[in-house]
Amino acid sequence: MYPHFVALRGSCQCGGVRFEVPDDFEARAFCHCETCKKLSGGVGTANGRVRSDEVTIVEGEELLRTYQPDEGTAKTFCSVCGSNLFGGGWPESEHASVRLSALDDPVPGRPQKHIYVRSVAPWESLPEDGLERVEGSG
Ligand SMILES: [Zn+2]
Ligand SMILES: [Zn+2]
Repeated sequence: MYPHFVALRGSCQCGGVRFEVPDDFEARAFCHCETCKKLSGGVGTANGRVRSDEVTIVEGEELLRTYQPDEGTAKTFCSVCGSNLFGGGWPESEHASVRLSALDDPVPGRPQKHIYVRSVAPWESLPEDGLERVEGSG
């Protein structure tokens, strides 16, 4: 028997890095922390969580760079185009945050909450989307 396995595909902006995550991948949260603003160039990141070993790098592993800030978890991006791909300490951590912005296939569901709303910037507005809002990491 051939196991039925459908992966969701993701990539960076330049296409040098391609990866897959399992199809039971679930969108979880919008993160508005200051770090996510810096690395996203916007209001923050949108993330889903998977086990780190469930992220399969299909192409471009040599292009990946992981930045470990003094505080917080490691973030991984494409060294060519700068797209932020993974956070939460991937690949060393047990679980990784996968940026929804990097996924090319439709993600099932949508994030259920906004986290780090205490870090919402003066130039940023939170949408009135009815989602739970959490001050910190939630
Ligand atoms: Zn790239
Ligand atoms: Zn964040």
